[in-house]
Amino acid sequence: MKITEIRIKLMDEPGERLKAFCSITFDDSFVVRDLKIIDGAGGLFVAMPSRKLTARCPACRTKNHLRAQYCNQCGLRLKEQPVTKDEEGRAKLYADIAHPINSRCREMIQARVIQAYEEEKSRSRLPGYVPSYDDYDEERTAEAAEPAPPPESRHKAYHDEEAVPPPPHKPPDTIPHKRQAGEQEMEAAEP
Ligand SMILES: [Zn+2]
Repeated sequence: MKITEIRIKLMDEPGERLKAFCSITFDDSFVVRDLKIIDGAGGLFVAMPSRKLTARCPACRTKNHLRAQYCNQCGLRLKEQPVTKDEEGRAKLYADIAHPINSRCREMIQARVIQAYEEEKSRSRLPGYVPSYDDYDEERTAEAAEPAPPPESRHKAYHDEEAVPPPPHKPPDTIPHKRQAGEQEMEAAEP
C-alpha cells in the first residue's frame, strides 16, 4: 500500500498545537481526510481522524458527547459519566475513525505526512502560494452556517459531525474537549 497523495491545510496560528489538517490518498484509490498534525511534547506527530465518544441520555436515550452537561434533546442535567482512562490516566473522549493497525504503517504515514507538512510550509512562504488542501474550509461552510461558534472552538466544531446545536434555552456544553497528545486506539463507549 502506497501513499500517492498528501494534501495539507496549514493552520498557522501562533501558540496552537494543531499545526495543520491533512488528507492522504492510498494507491490513487482511497482518501482519508481530517488527519491532524500536532506539535506535541515529543515533537510533531500525526493524529488520526477521530470522533467524539457518546453516551445515551438516561431519560430520552439521545446520544450526547461524553462530558456533556445537558442532554441535547431533552435538556436533562447529565451526571458525570464514568469515562474510560488510557494507560496514562487521561480520559478517553475520542475514538479514531481510521487508523493504522501496526507501528510500521503508523510510522510510514507519520514520516510522509510530516515531510509533506514541512514542504507545504516552505511553499507557503513563496509568493502566489495556493494551499494543496484549499477545498478544506469550503466544504465545511454549510455546516458552520449554524449558530456561529466562538473563534476558539472553530477547530473543535469541525469535528462535531454528529453534534446537534443545543436548544437556545439550555446552556451549551462548555467543557473543553481538546484531544490530548498521543490519544489513540480507543474503544467506543457505544457500538
Ligand atoms: Zn435526554
